[in-house]
Amino acid sequence: MTKPLKNEIIKSLTLQKEIFGDELFIPKKKINTSVVKEPTTLFEEPALFPEEKEEWEKAASLNEFEKLISNCIKCRLHQGRNKFVFGTGNPNADVLVIGEGPGAEEDKQGLPFVGRAGKLLTDMLKAIKFEREEVYIGNVVKCRPPENRTPMQDEMDTCLPYLKKQFGLIQPKLILCLGLTAAKGLLKKRESLGELRKSVFEYEGAKVIVTYHPAALLRNPHWKKDCWEDLKKFRKLYEELI
Ligand code: URA
Repeated sequence: MTKPLKNEIIKSLTLQKEIFGDELFIPKKKINTSVVKEPTTLFEEPALFPEEKEEWEKAASLNEFEKLISNCIKCRLHQGRNKFVFGTGNPNADVLVIGEGPGAEEDKQGLPFVGRAGKLLTDMLKAIKFEREEVYIGNVVKCRPPENRTPMQDEMDTCLPYLKKQFGLIQPKLILCLGLTAAKGLLKKRESLGELRKSVFEYEGAKVIVTYHPAALLRNPHWKKDCWEDLKKFRKLYEELI
C-alpha cells in the first residue's frame, strides 16, 4: 500500500470515528466466520438468497406439469422439435418405463414409443403381462435429437429434472430402463449395459432393472433371448413388491 493511500484511509477512519464513535468499529456479536459457507462456484448464490422454485416444480399433477413445460426452450433440442413428448400412461402406475428420447414418429405424434421400437416395446410388456396403459412410459429427453442421435450430456442434464418430477408425481415402485443412455441418465452409472443388466438398482426407493432398448433389439434380434431373461426378472420383482 502506498503511503498517500494509507494516510487517506487513516484520515477517513478518524473522521468516521468522530461521527459514529466506537460503535462503528466494535461488532456487537462475534461473527463465527467458520460457519459461513462460501459459494463453491462463481455463480452459486449464497444460502441467504435461496433460489425461487420454478413454476413447474410446484405442479401437483401430471396434466398441470405437462402444460407448464411443453413449450420448454431450455436446451438446443427444442429447435428441431415438432412436438414435445411429455410421456404417457397411468398416472398412478407401479411401473415406469424409461427410454432415451423421441424418434421421428414420436416427434410427429407427441407420444413416446409409437414407432417400430414402440410396437416391440408393447409386445415386450405384453409378454410379461403388462398392458401399455397400465404402466407409465417416458424418456430421458423430451424432444427429438436431430437424426435420432444420442442425446448429449448437457441435454440430458437439462431435461432430467422433468423426469424426476414425473417420478415424484407417479411414485412408481419399479423402473425399467431401456438401453444404456436411459440407465446412465437416471442412475449416473458408467458401466456397460452388460454389467448394468446384472444388478437390481435403487432409485429413490424404487427398484430399477436395465435391459436392451427395443430399437437395439430390432437391429440385433439375437439379443432378444437375454432381454427375455431381464423381463422375467422384472416381472418376478414386480410380483414380490406388489
Ligand atoms: N426410442 C426411445 O428411446 N423413446 C421413444 O419414445 C421412441 C423411441
